[in-house]
Formats: sequence, C-alpha cells, structure tokens
Amino acid sequence: MTKIYAVANQKGGVGKTTTCVNLAASLVATKKRVLLVDLDPQGNATMGSGVDKSALELTIYDVLTDRAAIAECLVLSDSGNFQVLPANGDLTAAEVEMLSLPNKERRLDKALSGVMGQFDYILIDCPPSLNMLTLNALAACHGVIIPMQCEYYALEGLSALVGTINQIHDVLNPALKIEGILRTMYDPRNSLTNDVSAQLHQHFGDRVYRTCIPRNVRLAEAPSYGQPVMVYDRQSKGAISYLALAGEIIRRNELSAAASDDSLNSS
Ligand code: ADP
Ligand code: MG
Repeated sequence: MTKIYAVANQKGGVGKTTTCVNLAASLVATKKRVLLVDLDPQGNATMGSGVDKSALELTIYDVLTDRAAIAECLVLSDSGNFQVLPANGDLTAAEVEMLSLPNKERRLDKALSGVMGQFDYILIDCPPSLNMLTLNALAACHGVIIPMQCEYYALEGLSALVGTINQIHDVLNPALKIEGILRTMYDPRNSLTNDVSAQLHQHFGDRVYRTCIPRNVRLAEAPSYGQPVMVYDRQSKGAISYLALAGEIIRRNELSAAASDDSLNSS
C-alpha cells in the first residue's frame, strides 16, 4: 500500500528539503518506487533533485488550480531515479487562488489519488509555514515526519505544529498521525542536544526515530550539484544516515502491517 508522508515543520532551515530529497533517493536505493512532491514555492526540492525550476512548463501550481492533470506534470529526478512533482514561484499564486476554489484543503489529496498506485512512497516537502499549502499536505498524508534541530526553542515551536496536526486529524483527516520525529544536524557532543533529545523521548516516546542525521558538509554541498548525497558522496556520513532512516521507516511499516494482519487473523 502506498504511504504518503508530509515532511513538515513551520520553522525554516531545519532540514525538511534535505530530508525529502535524500530520503527519496534512499528509498529508491532499496527498490521502492518514490514520488517527491515539492510543495514549497522556493522550489528547493525541485532544484535539489536536479530539475531546473525556471525551465518548467507545468508544475504543481497547474495541478492545484485544475490547469493540468498530475501525470502531465511529473518529471524524473536527474540522478536519483525518483519522480518529482516540481514547484517554482508560481506556487505562491496557487495559495491565493485556491482560497476561492471548491474543496480548497483537499486539492492535493484529490490529485495524488490519481497516481497513488504507481508509488510505494510519496514524500511531500512542505513550506516553512502552517498555510493552505501545508494544510493540503496534512489532509493528503498518512503521517507527518517532523525534522527538527535539538535547540532550545525547538520544542516550543513543535507545539503549534502538533496542535495543527490534531485539528486536521479531527476535521479533515482522521487517519493522520505523527509518523516520526527526526533529529537533524545532530551533534551529540553538545549537552543541550542531549537535554532536548531526552525531552523529545519523554513527549513522543518511540515516535522519535532512532536514526539521527549528523551535521555533515556533504549534505549541504550536494544540492548545488542537483544531486542527492548518496550520488554526490555515497561514503559520507550524511548518505549513510539517510539510508539508515529509510531502513528504519520501511521496518516500522512492515511491523505495523504484520500487526494489523495478526489482528485481522485473530478477529
Ligand atoms: P528546510 O527545508 O527545513 O528549510 P533545508 O533542508 O533546506 O531546510 O536545510 C537548511 C540548510 O541546512 C541547507 O543549506 C542545507 O543544505 C543545510 N543542511 C540541512 N541538513 C544538514 C545537515 N544534516 N548537515 C549540514 N547541513 C545541513
Ligand atoms: Mg525547504
């Protein structure tokens, strides 16, 4: 069954886009079929996948405003072998236009239903705000992956996101849950990192991924070549940690699928 994950945090610079591009490439490396949806008008996930955002005829803007079907807009990443629903600055206009269109919160959900069966995983790179675009991602997904840096104000910022997730769960998407909390730019030598990590475990328990993404310069360099880090430098710590994350996500899914099979068999 296709799993759709929104990668969201209204704070900018926490590693959402880096996680989307590199998790997409890591899932592909384990033979999964992946679609990366760029839902940020900055188009960083598009560029990081090696797709020139300024040369696009059709983007996610056209999908969300009924100008084109999603299948017409998909492009292949330059080197990662995953599909991309690309974005550029046009998407800013979609946010406004969507407000006067019917089913404004479910436009992405409806679009993705047209390609669901073609993919094992769909990752949605959210913009750094809790706006109509992010609401569309939360209405369309099964779970939210929250990347965060272990900083002093990080937990405070999480409460607004968790509140929004709870609201969307109650109103639009009863299946919605926090899939996992991902610690990014992780430095275990920093004592604050360990304090925040302990608090995260207290609040979110085993929803905190075991895998941490270390601060790694290769991860920061790779996007300027339009490559995931496992193509740019597959031996790097960044590449190894995102592969580990993909493994952890796949294992979690297999365990929960097995658990739901068991409950079906015993009922
Ligand atoms: P967001 O999408 O949340 O705004 P990005 O993924 O664009 O965040 O990351 C912000 C910046 O930090 C980018 O320049 C990116 O290359 C860099 N970066 C992200 N993760 C790491 C990491 N683990 N190590 C080093 N640099 C990172
Ligand atoms: Mg981003």
